Amino acid sequence: MRTRREFTTAVVAAAAARGEPARCKALIIDGRNNHDWRSTSPVLKRLLEETGLFRVEFATAPQASAQMESFLPAFGSSDLIVLNYSDFGNGGVWNEHAKFAFVEAVKGGTGVVVYHAASSAFADWEEFNRIVGLGGWGGRDERSGPHLYWEADAIVMDQSPAKAGHHGPRHPYAVVTRQPAHPIMAGLPPVWMHASDELYDTLRGPAEELQVLATAWSDPAFAGTARHEPVLFTVRFGRGRIFHTTLGHDPEAMQCVGFIVTLQRGAEWAATGRMTQPRPSDFPTERQVSLRP
Ligand code: ZN
Repeated sequence: MRTRREFTTAVVAAAAARGEPARCKALIIDGRNNHDWRSTSPVLKRLLEETGLFRVEFATAPQASAQMESFLPAFGSSDLIVLNYSDFGNGGVWNEHAKFAFVEAVKGGTGVVVYHAASSAFADWEEFNRIVGLGGWGGRDERSGPHLYWEADAIVMDQSPAKAGHHGPRHPYAVVTRQPAHPIMAGLPPVWMHASDELYDTLRGPAEELQVLATAWSDPAFAGTARHEPVLFTVRFGRGRIFHTTLGHDPEAMQCVGFIVTLQRGAEWAATGRMTQPRPSDFPTERQVSLRP
């Protein structure tokens, strides 16, 4: 098996050989999260950079709440904003300047990747919830929007009153493609096994201009909902393209080639609207999980 460095070098060389254009600027937002952002942000950076498409910078929120007033990431000069950030339970609400700049950037066409627990952020911020499409936790319930799930080849919007956001114990599960022609999913198997991870359920939100790319069966044996819950989806907001993945709880779950490839493809699509990344030979199958070192 190749080492991680050899693998990254090979991928970057392949991208260069394809004659890729100048790399996009991706800005990872972190510094506050109810998850261990210090261990996941470097993985996100490496995965984006190994496509050869991105140069990655960080905007890390200060730990002192008094300094949150001056936290203003360079949203407007980025091609892609990667949200590895949540204020859930830590008081890391953005100031009004940062909120305005984020919304204006996305409206103007800056892409967004919403990664895992970022959907728990900013439960009371209307535009944020329109941008991420669906969220959970942080006091979200039926006032946040419907519980969206998949049934009989269509989206169901369940308006019944209930809390939003939950997952059972982590386990491997099958991810089912629902939009095989979408650039992010094109050429990927109709069903593939995701490595052991949390499976989010009962996410709720405005769900405007939302397209479900893939779902997973939320198994009651793992405290699930007995619904096909969305795990990969896109949202449009103004001219902005948003790719939302609920997968990738920690660096171990992020080793799944299915997580890696959909993140890399989702990032390219959100930033450029195009897709140049082929299906790799080590993609998981319907029966077999596939991990990279
Ligand atoms: Zn998690």
